[in-house]
Amino acid sequence: MRVSIFGLGYVGCVSAGCLAEKGHRVIGVDVSESKVNQINSGKPTIIEKDIDVLIMKGHENGLLEATLDATYAVLNTDISIISVGTPSTREGHLNLDYIFKVAEEIGEALREKEEFHVIAIRSTVLPGTNEKVGAVIEEFSGKKRNESFALVSNPEFLREGSAVKDYFNPPITLLGSDDKRAIDAMENLYSNISSEFVETDIRVAEIMKYVNNTYHALKIVFANEVGNICKSQNIDSHKVMDIFCKDTQLNISPYYFKPGFAYGGSCLPKDTKALMTLARDNYVKIPVIEHIIDSNEHQKDRLVEIVIEKGKRNIGFLGLSFKPGTDDLRNSPMVDVVERLLGKGFNINIYDKNVKLSEITGTNKEYIESKIPHLQHFISSDLDEVVKASDVIVVGHRAVEFEDIPEKYTGRVIIDLVRMWNGIEYDGSYEGISW
Ligand code: NAD
Repeated sequence: MRVSIFGLGYVGCVSAGCLAEKGHRVIGVDVSESKVNQINSGKPTIIEKDIDVLIMKGHENGLLEATLDATYAVLNTDISIISVGTPSTREGHLNLDYIFKVAEEIGEALREKEEFHVIAIRSTVLPGTNEKVGAVIEEFSGKKRNESFALVSNPEFLREGSAVKDYFNPPITLLGSDDKRAIDAMENLYSNISSEFVETDIRVAEIMKYVNNTYHALKIVFANEVGNICKSQNIDSHKVMDIFCKDTQLNISPYYFKPGFAYGGSCLPKDTKALMTLARDNYVKIPVIEHIIDSNEHQKDRLVEIVIEKGKRNIGFLGLSFKPGTDDLRNSPMVDVVERLLGKGFNINIYDKNVKLSEITGTNKEYIESKIPHLQHFISSDLDEVVKASDVIVVGHRAVEFEDIPEKYTGRVIIDLVRMWNGIEYDGSYEGISW
């Protein structure tokens, strides 16, 4: 099939590479000239396992191209997938400016198009957004929804760090539409991806991603609080949660149930906040969900307190992005902790193999330069240099390259947030604190 993808960030870049891999003809559209150029030279706009191979392959076999020209993309494709950002406003509402801008562009393009066009909203949007996008497209195209074009709510469930694998193996493929032709077109597009198609109403599809992500956040903070209690009792919380997940009456997946550090990233914080704001705006009380954010913040406070208690000044961070396998720093809890410690005058050294300043591009480069330019100075691409310069080492990612740190660099405090060493404690040559 012929498909255009609006927004070539984490979701759009992965979708573009994966759809081209499945034999579809893909035209990516972005407002960033550098991202368009990157795709057109066979390079991904993000750091993510296997995506470099897929983008290069799509580029070489002529199935993948990118453009700044929305009209060209719409006129030469049958489906447009919208995957632009939907960031939070300060109050927790969604900023839908990017979505509506794309709707205007698609509407303009449809003026010139005779054939029926399907528009799939892949970005995470609150209920009612597809309706509004449809109205914008009608206004700008002068054409009627469900006559000349139709909308499908098709939320994305991939997780950064395993995005390509997740793309090809989604838990479900959710399609919310009021037009059968749109559903059929999307089922065709995804026909060679093995997962159950779930067809539903648009508003149900729209709210699903918020419900799922809020539940993931709830699982994380629950496991972290169990971890905090267990630690106070000198009980191994990972053993506790492993056994907890075996309870067949709970029938619960172990994903997100490992006690550890705070959640972060571009989705869980934003989506949990958006669901809370939706409830508040509608005077719905949600005491359990309301406290997820507090609990998550508390986990960061604990780390800051533990570092301060150690009484050392030179602190090293191994892993800055919100999880391993991605360069994404948006809402990374580690960035938050680093900023707090910097504010208290600590000397900070940071190593993250996916955040090497000379190599970063795309969304993450824009983020570093606009939101956290002050941290660039503390980021090094030399692991040895960072560990040697630090008295306390906070390990935020699991990585093979960290394995020999306790033995190799003695005399340090190692705060292991990710069970890198399966529960390190005192060794005489180093002090291990495991989460
Ligand atoms: P991103 O910021 O990485 O990418 C968005 C892209 O849209 C950017 O490249 C930006 O330049 C581009 N853009 C902005 N305006 C445009 C326009 N008018 N035309 C074309 N391109 C335009 O965002 P992301 O992380 O890929 O997230 C996109 C959406 O998908 C969000 O709603 C997010 O909540 C959702 N989502 C993200 C993930 C994830 O893991 N990142 C997973 C599932 C769902």
